[in-house]
Amino acid sequence: MSQLGHIESGSRHDLHVGLSPSAPDESDMRDDADGAFGYVHSYESSSRYDGPGLRVVLFTSGCLLRCTYCHNPDTWHLKDGTYVSAQDVIDRLGDFAPALRSLDGGLTISGGEPMVQLAFTRRIFRAAREMGLHTAIETSGYLGDRADDKYLSGVDLVLLDIKSSDPETYRIATGRDLAPTLRFAERLAAMGKPAWVRFTLVPGLTDDPANVEGIARFVAPMKNVEWVEIQPFHQLGAFKWKAMKLDYKLDETQAPTPAVIERVLGQFRAAGCRVR
Ligand code: SF4
Repeated sequence: MSQLGHIESGSRHDLHVGLSPSAPDESDMRDDADGAFGYVHSYESSSRYDGPGLRVVLFTSGCLLRCTYCHNPDTWHLKDGTYVSAQDVIDRLGDFAPALRSLDGGLTISGGEPMVQLAFTRRIFRAAREMGLHTAIETSGYLGDRADDKYLSGVDLVLLDIKSSDPETYRIATGRDLAPTLRFAERLAAMGKPAWVRFTLVPGLTDDPANVEGIARFVAPMKNVEWVEIQPFHQLGAFKWKAMKLDYKLDETQAPTPAVIERVLGQFRAAGCRVR
């Protein structure tokens, strides 16, 4: 068992590796049954981009995707996170709760992939709700089948990353299948669960007009989707790949030009999406 640590505030851009060497592999999905403990990367207390109002954003460890443009490969493995008690996380959240409530904000759990640690994140969402906080999850949806309706009832907003509409591109970009994400998106739509769809625009990888069109047409009829957000690729995470001696393939990739961003925004608008 890993030694229990304390959750660290900081930034998603800080590099954290090897903090819990005895952690199970993330693919084991060995979430402890009552979610009393889990692995986390860090939290930020001031993000305004991960849900409405002022947010605390908790970055959990563990992800089964391997996005070639991932900014935080140090969240892939549980062993790189800090093993903490849910109570420690909840206590920290409680310190911020009055400010979050007064600024119409709340808690966002991101990652990594929060659904790798289902019981742990459920427990934290439940506590956040009891504090009167708005709750949001940022997810790829790949593990959406793991989350039952009760889990989702503890989440007010889903920030759903749809990385591609083309299965082949999705596999190249993430190493996994697209179908679970689309299935999860359809389930959220059927439930009427508020969602923001996020699309990372990576030149040479996800920017193909047909790929964008596919996402736009898929999302446009979904009344639960409040916004589509375009996230332009950047190189801020490249240093982590190098520090972790990972094979970074996007060294030569530039941020999308304003013209490409405008074209993509236009495609979503033309399909009937609210986009920003
Ligand atoms: S889903 Fe997110 S955390 Fe996982 S590899 Fe992709 S970008 Fe990184």
